Amino acid sequence: MRKKIVAGNWKMNLSKEEAIQLYKEIDAKRKTISLKSTLIVFPPFIYLDCLKSFNLDIEIGVQNFYPEEKGAFTGEVSVSQIKNMGATYTLIGHSERRMYFHENHEFLKLKVEAALKHGLHIVFCCGEPLEIREENTQNKYVKKQLVESLFHLSEENFKKITVAYEPIWAIGTGKTASSSQAEEMHAAIRGFISDKYSKNVAENCSILYGGSCNPTNAAELFACENVDGGLIGGASLKSEDFLKIANSF
Ligand code: PEP
Repeated sequence: MRKKIVAGNWKMNLSKEEAIQLYKEIDAKRKTISLKSTLIVFPPFIYLDCLKSFNLDIEIGVQNFYPEEKGAFTGEVSVSQIKNMGATYTLIGHSERRMYFHENHEFLKLKVEAALKHGLHIVFCCGEPLEIREENTQNKYVKKQLVESLFHLSEENFKKITVAYEPIWAIGTGKTASSSQAEEMHAAIRGFISDKYSKNVAENCSILYGGSCNPTNAAELFACENVDGGLIGGASLKSEDFLKIANSF
């Protein structure tokens, strides 16, 4: 059975005190319900060490890193430094990194390799902008993102990847993909993985949906056969909303 995952991308939000409070609230509230999903949070990495020190049963990941081992890369953080701080997951390919920081397919491929080398689990984000959806060429667009940055991997390494489909037009806009749009793309992604690797690899790959997912629409999205959870931005900043989403299976 595929792993169900609900992950919170905190982006560049929260003071240290707020981050601690949110993390502790998530932990306290999750103990009052029986969740079917694994929880991951992606805080700003300056809070990693502090959050890790509470030793709670919530996976912690990073939103970014630089794919070199060490050296003169002012302002950057390496995978081994991240691992050293206790992170177990990383996002790669988020549309905000692609867009604002010009991370292209080739660079994302380097990030994928660096993360795998150090044993970090990867949540690889893909998704099309509005103009591509309007042209109805979204499947081709998303396939290229997978082919260029992931499909060079061996089957063994690909099995370590979680995919997050995040249509850019739905991120932070309040405009969610309908459950049929999400299901259609998730099924297509599973098909691409099956064609490249095998049906078995595809069946075992968790594919998350991201883009204005909230406590009201999560249940309908998560009920789709090929949707295995969510990558949550805005709604992950409130423990109650995040837990309601995580409890929507
Ligand atoms: C995201 O940035 O990964 C995201 C899904 O954001 P939001 O939920 O705010 O649309």
